[in-house]
Amino acid sequence: MDFDYDPENLFAKILRGEIPNKTVLETDHALAFHDIAPQAPIHVLVVPKGPYVSLDHFARDASAEEQVGFLSAVSQVCEILGVEAGFRAIANSREHGMQEVPHFHLHILAGRRIGPLVV
Ligand code: C5P
Repeated sequence: MDFDYDPENLFAKILRGEIPNKTVLETDHALAFHDIAPQAPIHVLVVPKGPYVSLDHFARDASAEEQVGFLSAVSQVCEILGVEAGFRAIANSREHGMQEVPHFHLHILAGRRIGPLVV
């Protein structure tokens, strides 16, 4: 499988500081920020800094350090957001996953019961 990363995608621009964001956390390996169009009281995107298109691309090609760093950022974000009551994590992936921005990101949705998974 070829993953064709577009360095001009929106999140690449956010990572380069070309577009502002409401940052929750920044580490060596990830940036987490509030979604511009929140679908729940808490809606945060966790974005790895490396050039990966989708979850399967990240899982296949990111180094162990990048993967651990990303998951550590997810853990820290959950702590910062105080989502003890739970959350939903979503990784829309490519066309059939209805992914809009082609840079891997994890949606963290929380603050209320998110409801059944709708497909
Ligand atoms: O998973 P998907 O690629 O569809 O999600 C992209 C997300 O990026 C959307 O939830 C959208 O609201 C968000 N977004 C954002 N800031 C922007 C543009 C889009 O948080 N400037």
